[in-house]
Parts: sequence; C-alpha cells; structure tokens
Amino acid sequence: MEYNQQPIPEEYLTLSEEEMEKRIRDIKEELGSKLVILGHHYQRDEVIRFADHRGDSLRLSQLAAEAHEAEYIVFCGVHFMAETADILGSADQKVILPDLGAGCPMADMAELEDLERCWEEITSQYNVEFVPITYVNSTADVKAFCGDHGGLTCTSSNAPKILEQIFKDGKHVLFLPDEHLGRNTAMDLGLTEEDMFQWKRDDWDIELPDNPPKIILWDGYCGVHMRFTPAHVDYVRSKYPGVKVIVHPECTHEVVEKSDLHGSTDFIIRQVTGAPAGSVWAVGTEINLVNRLAKENPEKTVVSLNENMCLCVMMNRISQSHLLWALDNLYQGKVVNQITVKPEVAKSAKIALDRMLEMS
Ligand code: SF4
Repeated sequence: MEYNQQPIPEEYLTLSEEEMEKRIRDIKEELGSKLVILGHHYQRDEVIRFADHRGDSLRLSQLAAEAHEAEYIVFCGVHFMAETADILGSADQKVILPDLGAGCPMADMAELEDLERCWEEITSQYNVEFVPITYVNSTADVKAFCGDHGGLTCTSSNAPKILEQIFKDGKHVLFLPDEHLGRNTAMDLGLTEEDMFQWKRDDWDIELPDNPPKIILWDGYCGVHMRFTPAHVDYVRSKYPGVKVIVHPECTHEVVEKSDLHGSTDFIIRQVTGAPAGSVWAVGTEINLVNRLAKENPEKTVVSLNENMCLCVMMNRISQSHLLWALDNLYQGKVVNQITVKPEVAKSAKIALDRMLEMS
C-alpha cells in the first residue's frame, strides 16, 4: 500500500541542526504532558533522541495504551505501528506519523482479500481448528480479520509463548505475514519442515496437503533481515574469533541455525547490554540499532553481521525535519498526518491485540 506524503515546506529542509533541535525541544516543553513521542529502536539517532519512550513494537503498543494523559501521540516508526497506537489509544487521542510514506513492505505483503481466499481454502478443506495469528507487523484489516476469526496478534517477543500454547491446545496455525518468524518459532518448539506448509499468495492453483499441517506459513518477509546470509556468519566468525552472533528471527532459518542466539529486538538489546566488557558481537538486525548498540557499549565490539548497511529505508523516512514540521503544526493547533483506523476495523483488531496482551 502506498501512502503519500505531501512535500513539507522548504524552510524545514534548510534549517540548521541546532535550530531544529531547539524548536523541537521548545515545542515539547510547551505542549508538556499533552504530547508523547514514541520511537522505535530502528529510528535514526537524530529522531530517537526526542522520544519520550523507545521500544520495540510490543512495548510501544503497550505504552500507547497507557499514555492516558497525552492528547497527541507522535509515532516515530512505521504505518502499522501508528495504526496499532490508534487502535489501543482512547477515542480522543490523536496519533500522528511524521512522514506518511513510512510504510512497512512486509505488512503490505498480507492483503485482506488474499487472506480471505486462503482462509476459505483452509477451512473448507480441513476439519481441525486453525487459529489465524498475525505478527503485529500487519495492517489493521488483517489484525481485524484475526480478531473476528478466533485469532490474535503476536510480536517476535511473545510468538514462542503464544504458538506453544496454541499447539498445546491441539490447534493448528495460519501464521502471517512473516514466513521466517513463523518457521523459526515453530522450529524452536520442535516442529519440522514436514509439519509446515508454505502458502504462496500468487499461486492460484496451490493445493493444500491432504493432512492438515501444524502450521501454514504466509510468504511474507522483511527485506532488511533477508540481507543476512549464512556466508556472513562464516565471514564474521573468521574475522572476529570468539564473536557471538545474535540475529532477529525475521532472518532466514539458515542464518538463525548458524547463529549463537536469536530473539526479538528487545532480547538483542538485553544480551548485548548485559554482556561482559571485551566481548565481541555481530548483530543481524537493522543498522540504526546496531550502530546505537555499538555507541552505547564502547567497552565491547559490536558490528553488523552484514558489513553492507542493512537499513530500513521506511523507518529512515522519519527525519528531524518531518518531526519538527508535525510538531510545529500541533503547536499551532493543526493536526497533520493523523492515522485513524475505521471504528469497526479497530474494534475487531483490538480483540486480536488484547488476546495477545493477555497471553504475553
Ligand atoms: S525492518 Fe522490516 S519489518 Fe521492520 S519496518 Fe522495516 S521492512 Fe518492515
């Protein structure tokens, strides 16, 4: 899905760093508790330094739900995150995304129409219970579908706990949109490739197997995490003897298998931050976070698993200029780039999110 950002006035592109910083800090002070700025870990340094709270998707969703006093939630992240904040926030709160062009290609790989077709095929072929589980990196429509069909959302932090419980209950799973998070989590729980089936959105002649797979994986992926390969793991091991390789589960299973540790963004931060001085880390996740970890842990060596920048260009669209432009407008009483989810969609999506938060 394309979201169009109108060009922001020229003046915001020519201001000096110092001027922008001063104006952002002044507006923050002026608006006080009416404003909360949330920043995802993958944001640029120039932006995240203004965040009242930083976190991964789950933490930010919870913070949005708890920010009762704030009239304005400025979300420095991507579109689906701002939608989630709108769904979990109260009716009088306004969620603002400083650059509307900041979408998530992975979220856009699961469209409602395709999901409805897949679900129809699954439920007409099998007599066992399937639960649709969507990674929070998905559109509000897809979350709403899951809420309406006995399903829920998950994040990379709580996916293992949620999938374990569903399998324990003897149910089967349709997991979307990220094939790799689904496969890595299922394999951690002891499933094998034989227990899985890969759904292909564009294959109209696809045939489901006779026996119901334990998990059906959608064919979505994150282009940023796909850039880490097994060869990168071999390379860092030869270059940095004793290195610990830690990767995000959006990486392929081949990369996860070769790594020492894998887990959510939050898990990666805790592992590197809590490691002894002198330790060496090769991290397979978005470069802004890897560079920040390196800067904040100067007594350790922290490098990217892929020396060629793995940057999320969508997260990177939120610039200091866009943030200032959005805040300037708020200061003048004008809300720009508000993200709103239709009430009927929000109601069903909230069911899916609440089920996740209860199980987390
Ligand atoms: S890092 Fe990947 S999953 Fe996250 S916002 Fe960017 S494209 Fe989407």
